[in-house]
Amino acid sequence: MPHLIIPIFIAHEGCPHRCIFCDQHTITGNPAAESRKIGLETVKETIEKWLAYSQREQKATVQVAFYGGSFTGLPIQRQKELLGAARPYLDDVRVDSIRISTRPDYIDENIVSLLQQYSVSVVELGIQSLDPHVLETSTRGHTDKQSESAVHLLRESGFTVGLQVMCGLPGDSTCRLMATAKKAAELGPDFVRIYPTLVIKGSGLEKMYLEGNYRPLSLLKALALASRMKEVFDRHHIRVVRMGLQTSLELEKKIVAGPYHPAFGELVLTRDLFSRARKLLHRHRQKAPKILSVAAADESAFRGKNNASLKRLAALGLLEGIEVVFDKEQDRNTIKLY
Ligand code: SF4
Repeated sequence: MPHLIIPIFIAHEGCPHRCIFCDQHTITGNPAAESRKIGLETVKETIEKWLAYSQREQKATVQVAFYGGSFTGLPIQRQKELLGAARPYLDDVRVDSIRISTRPDYIDENIVSLLQQYSVSVVELGIQSLDPHVLETSTRGHTDKQSESAVHLLRESGFTVGLQVMCGLPGDSTCRLMATAKKAAELGPDFVRIYPTLVIKGSGLEKMYLEGNYRPLSLLKALALASRMKEVFDRHHIRVVRMGLQTSLELEKKIVAGPYHPAFGELVLTRDLFSRARKLLHRHRQKAPKILSVAAADESAFRGKNNASLKRLAALGLLEGIEVVFDKEQDRNTIKLY
């Protein structure tokens, strides 16, 4: 993973789609949004500013990431301009890679060769689900097969591929969701993000919700589902780099309903670490282990709010005679018992 990610937010410039959970059609076409369209000078200034702030260590890697829209759905000229603004930094090795995010139906051989020409190395695809019924109910406007083909093409072409998947979409079920997680893992992406579906003001989902045709996941259910999805990706050694949406005041003001929590990812991790520690301690009870070791970086997630997880393990009698240590050298997301 890069040590420094320079985020460049491109607005949803003229997205023609109507995904049920998205409010972009209320944003694009509006003059305020047009004025937010990022200029090329701003791209350069943003990169310069971040490079100036960061003390680049010898081994540190720097990535410019174009976030916030379907990059390859932009007019070709606009893509070239944006990528062209970032490329000089790659040429003089002040930046190591460029990342874009897009939809699976906006990937084809021509796009791949354009991205290669501008040295893009990471492509994130919002596939959201691999279930045909869920994709249709969510009015995504692309199929599961298009997602699969896009991942295959990008991987064959040597890109690092990330996938964004959602839980709680209309028409989804635990069974369909777990099938999506399994299929997504089998596509072999390099990393994954898991987002819970929220009801956003101005979206089609808000209408469904207000008419009583959609019930959002409870926070507990969303945490449980995200945790089960994470288990699938962990089993395939695929990094889950984010769970839950990036918090912002702007987002918080727009949420009508749904499993929003500013520390969603940390809560999933707490749940996941607790359940793995409980199983491990239980399984090895007879061997009288002495030390339970957790990565220092996971300490806060492992402890849970007010040490709740530690207290629960103790209440189950699983920590008798066992010292819990937090090891700086240990890999994240691992638990060891000695
Ligand atoms: S989520 Fe769907 S509607 Fe919204 S910007 Fe992306 S592709 Fe367009």
